[in-house]
Amino acid sequence: MDNCLFCKIIAGDIPSTKVYEDAYCYAFRDINPQAPTHILVVPKDHVASIAEADKLSPEALCAVITAIGKIAAQEGLEKGFRVVSNCGPDACQSVPHLHFHILGGRQMADQMA
Ligand code: 5GP
Ligand code: ZN
Repeated sequence: MDNCLFCKIIAGDIPSTKVYEDAYCYAFRDINPQAPTHILVVPKDHVASIAEADKLSPEALCAVITAIGKIAAQEGLEKGFRVVSNCGPDACQSVPHLHFHILGGRQMADQMA
């Protein structure tokens, strides 16, 4: 997708700190971390948000979801972590390419929002 920030990151046109990659997904550190560990997991195929997850292949969808646990283990988040996917303006989604935030390394608030 032209002009998509995360597509450019996946393509390597914009630098990022990679933490994980496979055939279907790419994960990198958030530029403005909200927790000691803050990683974004994105499918390599462009879809705008989780509302369009049905446009991904089952293989890609499965890869993105299972990557989350692999990355958490790799990052030593055995005490737990939070996964967030903002969708649309009410959720303040700022980059319209589906992504899952992995947040960890500290105690999260007991309320989600
Ligand atoms: P959203 O608000 O869409 O749920 O999350 C977008 C995330 O992308 C934000 O947490 C923001 O800090 C991150 N972000 C925006 N631009 C860049 C960038 O150029 N590089 C990286 N690594 N993260 C970015
Ligand atoms: Zn994209």
